[in-house]
Amino acid sequence: MTFSAPFDNSYARLPEAFYTRLNPTEVPAPKLVAYNEELGRLLGITDATEEDRVAVFSGATVPPGATPLAQLYAGHQFGSFNPQLGDGRAILLGEVVGTDGLRRDVQLKGSGPTPYSRMGDGRAWLGPVLREYVVSEAMHALGIPTTRALAATLTGEDVIRETVLPGAIFTRVAASHLRVGTFQVFAHRGQKSELRQLTEYAIHRHYPDATGPMGLLRAVCAAQADLIAAWMSVGFIHGVMNTDNCTISGETIDYGPCAFLDEYHADTVFSSIDQMGRYAYSNQPRIVVWNMAQFATSLLQQYDDPSTMIDEATEIVHAMPGQIEEAWRKRFGAKIGLKEPEPEDMGLLEDLLALMQKDGADFTNTFDALARGNARDQFVDRDAFDAWQLRWRARLKGVIDTEKTMRAASPRIIPRNHRIEEMIAAAVAGDYAPFHRLLQAVSDPYGTTDTDLMRAPSKAQRVAATFCGT
Ligand code: AMP
Ligand code: MG
Repeated sequence: MTFSAPFDNSYARLPEAFYTRLNPTEVPAPKLVAYNEELGRLLGITDATEEDRVAVFSGATVPPGATPLAQLYAGHQFGSFNPQLGDGRAILLGEVVGTDGLRRDVQLKGSGPTPYSRMGDGRAWLGPVLREYVVSEAMHALGIPTTRALAATLTGEDVIRETVLPGAIFTRVAASHLRVGTFQVFAHRGQKSELRQLTEYAIHRHYPDATGPMGLLRAVCAAQADLIAAWMSVGFIHGVMNTDNCTISGETIDYGPCAFLDEYHADTVFSSIDQMGRYAYSNQPRIVVWNMAQFATSLLQQYDDPSTMIDEATEIVHAMPGQIEEAWRKRFGAKIGLKEPEPEDMGLLEDLLALMQKDGADFTNTFDALARGNARDQFVDRDAFDAWQLRWRARLKGVIDTEKTMRAASPRIIPRNHRIEEMIAAAVAGDYAPFHRLLQAVSDPYGTTDTDLMRAPSKAQRVAATFCGT
């Protein structure tokens, strides 16, 4: 085997209470359909032939230094607690320390059943694999913390969802796969010593300057507050903000029924399983606070007397809405040219969004047009826009570098839902050209010239819902 990667598996050195060791299931006819050369080099993967890449990223061969395992976790799904989830279709191959000195998990997703599969088949199909590939790389290019895409492999096996679909495996790279749910499982079981060990591990791995459980809570709340503001600023809707999909590192994870806004509406929900709109666009800031409250509750369980720490934990979680609002104001302020927005600028921003919502203006194209000075065309009620623009211009008087600020804060392109659906349909039929084209365009979100992929969907092209049949 020519495949070589600098594995150093700290999670596998934790006690077995945290995971189950097992190898991926071998698949009949593996074929590599995408590989991220640049990321591979960053991770320190060298000398791999195409044949060895196929073997490793399909799970057929465990590369030297890997110690495959499935991680245990729990989680609140749509608000109800599930005491045991875990990697039901994912295998952590191990951690590599990249050429940048950073430690990252390398995980196969869709690599066969594990002891945590419950009713699931342990598999994934090509559609969600390519969706996660494109959207996570787009987020990375947008500068938003996220897991990344290293490889996509066809398995040669059929996967049964609503129909028969081509099976695939996604190779995901993450700062770690620690989630709120990882803490919840041990808190729920009253395993104080495991909870303490996990807390120490998370601090050491992600926030070495943090002190104790409350220091960790503070750090994760800050990271998550920034993350949510970043999502909002590009019109991203995660779709399944369950506590098992909420990372300790502050990276975006699990691109299931996620989507970006086309026309702006604050209450937009795409996920077909989110009937109540719990994870609607505008609800995300509230939900992340709820998730952090669950995290706080779990962390408290490691104290001999948790009640002594409730006040401090509460204060930390209650500070979050203010942190999110500040991060939101900074992000959206930049989108209208204000590097240093003031609380008084909230009215200007809110009024713009209200106009956009009233007219169904395209989120991405409107902010891009603002930066380029031709936003008027994006509105139906142009008199209302003109009136807003007068106030805006007055506010910008004397502010420097406004165009530069706006261009850096508003991408020209996001992976639009109808383009993702189109790319998946083509790939299922064997044509990967649309996948590569979309990937290339969204990997250069501020500079791309692919005007066709920038265009908002027509009424007929609009995708109403994204499905969780992943
Ligand atoms: P997700 O909604 O993808 O975050 O997954 C929630 C839980 O369901 C996790 O524990 C997954 O491992 C598990 N899961 C999702 N799909 C499958 C599947 N096809 N087979 C087994 N487990 C699955
Ligand atoms: Mg998940």
